[in-house]
Amino acid sequence: MGKLNVSMLRYLSSEEFRVLTAVEMGMKNHELVPTPLIASIADLKHGGSHKILRELTKHKLVCYEKSGRVEGYRLTFSGYDYLALKALTTRGSVQSVGNQIGVGKESDIYIIADEEDKQHALKLHRLGRTSFRKLKEKRDYLKHRKNVSWLYLSRLAAVKEYAYMKALHDNGYPVPRPIDFNRHALVMELVDGHPLCQVHDVADPSALYSELMELIVRLGSYGLIHCDFNEFNLMINDSDKVTVIDFPQMVSISHLNAQWYFDRDVQCIRDFFLRRFSYESELYPRFADVKRLHNLDVEVAASGFTRDMSDSFDEAAADFKTSASSDKDQEDNEERDSSPGQELEQDESEDDDDSVEDNPMEAHSPEHSVSNEQQNMD
Ligand code: ADP
Ligand code: MG
Repeated sequence: MGKLNVSMLRYLSSEEFRVLTAVEMGMKNHELVPTPLIASIADLKHGGSHKILRELTKHKLVCYEKSGRVEGYRLTFSGYDYLALKALTTRGSVQSVGNQIGVGKESDIYIIADEEDKQHALKLHRLGRTSFRKLKEKRDYLKHRKNVSWLYLSRLAAVKEYAYMKALHDNGYPVPRPIDFNRHALVMELVDGHPLCQVHDVADPSALYSELMELIVRLGSYGLIHCDFNEFNLMINDSDKVTVIDFPQMVSISHLNAQWYFDRDVQCIRDFFLRRFSYESELYPRFADVKRLHNLDVEVAASGFTRDMSDSFDEAAADFKTSASSDKDQEDNEERDSSPGQELEQDESEDDDDSVEDNPMEAHSPEHSVSNEQQNMD
């Protein structure tokens, strides 16, 4: 599953990197980037883009496709990983990539070391892993969208997650410390402990239950609802310290369906405690109990992605998540995280998928920029 070929980082020549970057840039306006356009963007001294494209194809960083009269290259997830890692490496946030520690349908998590040899977690968002065609058949609104880009959405997930993580961390909420991001890749503090779904004994279930309910209410006081506050996204260490993870789907407490999301988060915890620890309590927070004390929802939205970006993300993400709410399916498979989009068919190979409409460079256009400086290719 972990298709992260880090050794490639060392072996790509500067000309190959130039051509790979040219493909990414070409995808701003083309689903499949024609070879002459790549050659012109890359502007290699002695020509030679063809040979390099063949090399990049062999390493699965780009993929050649022909559909009707349109033919050309597109970036693969591996190619996108490469570009993000290259940028993170250049600025010292990533020095080496180690073991994969988590895998969901929407992300891959690796341990990495920075240039000072400190370990962190790297989350690569993968909203495009499910079959795009299948999704299109099912989802009406997608049929009319020519430019739903799953690479773009993967990047958006990283941007959104970074923004919320930073705001929460700055306010002392127990989340991993965000360190850096580029494209769809986010570097954060490596959390000590295990997801709650893997924990079968806790010293005091009632104390943990209260703590989690307080965390939901406290998040509400910041103006936010997690929307996936469950045993898969709560990390517990040996002293039962809790860290909350996984934020791309977070919504504002002013959201139209805020109460529904809030109640669902609360119910997930109640259900889990009953199932796992036979613990039940009549005490649990109601949406009406939430007192807004901060406006992190507003601040994050204002500081970050435009409303438009946020909407297109939420729309697609909601789609994945609805099919996922039943983490119950996962009881037998608790080594893994909850993976929204269960019913969607997963492609065998990322290079066989239907994501010809991926358009990662859309994420780099100025009107969508969250922080230009974060996106520049080094
Ligand atoms: P997804 O969106 O795919 O659910 P998560 O952010 O929930 O991704 O991460 C998936 C899994 O990876 C988690 O359940 C956890 O086991 C592990 N993980 C994620 N972030 C960290 C971290 N910062 N430190 C340690 N493990 C992590
Ligand atoms: Mg998760």
